Amino acid sequence: MAVIAEEVNLAGYTTLRLGGPARRFVEATTEAELVAAIRAADDEGEPVLVLGGGSNLVVSDDGFPGTVVHIGTRGTERTAAEGGTVHVRAQAGEDWDPFVARCVADGLAGVECLSGIPGRVGATPIQNVGAYGQDVSETIIEVRAYDRESRAVVTLDRAACRFTYRHSVFKGNDRYVVLDVTYALHEAEESQPIAYAELARKLGVRPGERVTLKEARDAVLELRRGKGMVLDAADPDTRSAGSFFTNPVLDPEQLAELQRRVAERLGPDATFPRYPETGDRVKTSAAWLIDRAGFAKGHVLGPARISTKHTLALTNPGGASTADLLALAREVRAGVRDAFGVELVNEPVLVGVAL
Ligand SMILES: Cc1cc2nc3c(=O)[nH]c(=O)nc-3n(C[C@H](O)[C@H](O)[C@H](O)COP(=O)(O)OP(=O)(O)OC[C@H]3O[C@@H](n4cnc5c(N)ncnc54)[C@H](O)[C@@H]3O)c2cc1C
Repeated sequence: MAVIAEEVNLAGYTTLRLGGPARRFVEATTEAELVAAIRAADDEGEPVLVLGGGSNLVVSDDGFPGTVVHIGTRGTERTAAEGGTVHVRAQAGEDWDPFVARCVADGLAGVECLSGIPGRVGATPIQNVGAYGQDVSETIIEVRAYDRESRAVVTLDRAACRFTYRHSVFKGNDRYVVLDVTYALHEAEESQPIAYAELARKLGVRPGERVTLKEARDAVLELRRGKGMVLDAADPDTRSAGSFFTNPVLDPEQLAELQRRVAERLGPDATFPRYPETGDRVKTSAAWLIDRAGFAKGHVLGPARISTKHTLALTNPGGASTADLLALAREVRAGVRDAFGVELVNEPVLVGVAL
């Protein structure tokens, strides 16, 4: 039976350590409990918040006026193996990084560069979790979910998930509750080709070369720790929701405007990061824009602070409220808009608040 409690403070369940009370809090440890809890809340017309590890959530200081369903389903299994590819199905409540660690130890390649990312398996398809040149859209082949519209369990293949950069069919709506995720991994001692220049430099290889799975994982963890991007109770820079803004993807007109503003502000020969996207669109770096707009690492507004290690992470080093954090986010967004004409968009999911 799922554990139900009233008025549970959500700050204890988010990595920002922010968020007021949930009217009702359900701990679901089996799929049956999870589906029953969602159905019951839907029957009552009760708002629902699905909660994993709380590492991509900014919750209102007023809390959540409905039912929070905390996903605690556990377990992984190999569902198929053919031609060096192994399908591994993981329950939504499995912690992500221990899952990655097991894949690496078992000689399964495909998620090694996603080491050190907090949260649980069920959230990985939501924003197509990615880092250091990999994202889960490359390995996810199937997501089983409870569809709150049809009130049935459905299976979505990769195409149906409609993955793009930090986005999918699941993000921005409450329709699906992810029950389990199946990843197609490669039996290999070596990593997938290292795609990310900073990681390749760290490993002393050229982009496109491979290293052992363990070398890739260790290097990613070391890079992430240096940026406060691995949860560490002793490091206040890790009290964040990770990157607060996504990297802007610009169309040719927006790109020309950015080019003009960069030249005006930083000189005619100044350049900025550009990564080709699909079509004629180009992705640039939110961290670069924030930094060049004048927000240094460690910048504070009231009790909220930009991480002292990473320009993109907004933190609650202790004593901040959600309102304080959002005030800092608005200051940064307005500063980048004024300097470069680019509108930054938040990456974490905002609950009961708006930017
Ligand atoms: C220090 C730090 C570093 C980070 N680094 C990265 C990074 O490198 N790359 C990256 O992509 N992200 C990163 N993140 C963001 C975050 O870890 C990921 O987005 C992660 O997948 C969120 O998982 P979670 O279980 O904590 O989700 P939660 O924060 O609990 O939930 C996030 C959203 O997903 C929904 N959700 C969660 N589980 C389910 C489910 N089973 N079914 C339906 N909806 C669900 C929630 O309702 C909410 O809308 C980082 C965060 C932190 C704090």
